[in-house]
Amino acid sequence: NRQIVLAERPVGAPTSKNFRLEEAAIPTPGEGEMLLRTVYLSLDPYMRGRMSDAKSYADPVEIGDAMVGGTVSVVVKSNLKGFAEGDWVVSLGGWQDYSISNGEMVFNLGKEPAMPSWALGIMGMPGFTAYAGLLEIGEPKPGETIAVAAATGPVGATVGQIGKIKGCRVVGIAGGAEKCKHAVDNLGFDVCLDRNSSTFAQDLKDACPDGIDVYFENVGGAVFDAVLPLLNANARIPLCGLISQYNATSLPDGPDRMGMLMGTLLVKKIRMQGFIIFDSFPNLYPKFAADMQQWIAQGKVKYREQMVDGLENAPEAFMGLLEGKNFGKVVIKVGD
Ligand code: NDP
Repeated sequence: NRQIVLAERPVGAPTSKNFRLEEAAIPTPGEGEMLLRTVYLSLDPYMRGRMSDAKSYADPVEIGDAMVGGTVSVVVKSNLKGFAEGDWVVSLGGWQDYSISNGEMVFNLGKEPAMPSWALGIMGMPGFTAYAGLLEIGEPKPGETIAVAAATGPVGATVGQIGKIKGCRVVGIAGGAEKCKHAVDNLGFDVCLDRNSSTFAQDLKDACPDGIDVYFENVGGAVFDAVLPLLNANARIPLCGLISQYNATSLPDGPDRMGMLMGTLLVKKIRMQGFIIFDSFPNLYPKFAADMQQWIAQGKVKYREQMVDGLENAPEAFMGLLEGKNFGKVVIKVGD
């Protein structure tokens, strides 16, 4: 059983030294447990948080333990009702070939799921995050302008496409011309701007002549600085992620703009609300799944995966994800 364990906690951006590939015996499932063989492993930005022991909404990975992660796996042996050998399941198997599960937080996909890896992306946690954050907190109305960064990732791409379904003007922000072209040509965004351009703040202003009504916050940092002055009265900000800050070791240099931020929220009556997907929306998943299945079938939502072969390549792919080297949802193909 190959495992990628947390070798040491990163300071700043993770490096290959923070991970170690180990071999362990394949575990044996006890009473009320099952043995799962990993086929696909999801890589997600939140994993950076689990590598740190700073207080958060979830416990950190301990040094020497396998990295946590969502997986699509096949049941090898089951001592659990409701799960049989050969079933495909979505579970939290982690960065390893085999895992033991007691069935908690496991979803059975059956014997022959059509696109099993999609359960980690568009039909799973990131797709649901986009749906719930945009519709429940963003409350988009036809004709409004939505802005979203990380626009070709699984969350941002889905936010933009749902925004179009709801009749909004959608302004994407992404790293580089190729990603921006994809957002407009394939995902149907009205416009997409390169966050690395020296004229980015002005470009965003030009692209939002009527201001911004919903800013779906995935990134923070310089993108938020450019968005803040463009927010309209009564704007909504689903606060989903702040990836530009995940590797930070200290607060950025001043001047202190907290007063300006709070003043803007106050006088424009802006609602900014953080959420943690399964905590914040425990009952919404079935509605999401039904809507999303329909939108995909109708061709209204498209989905792009970046499949990386081999568990041993997970650390490098993860480091790339934090820097925007990914193009689409990063999935590691661990086994057959
Ligand atoms: P992505 O696949 O979109 O990957 C992250 C992307 O962030 C990169 O590809 C890059 O895109 C962008 N990025 C990286 N660094 C910066 C930076 N300094 N400034 C601006 N953009 C940057 O990830 P996901 O779609 O999986 O997740 C998107 C966000 O949603 C993350 O912040 C994540 O933590 C959050 N999230 C929150 C959840 C919740 O429950 N609250 C659940 C799931 C995700 P590019 O190069 O195109 O700019």
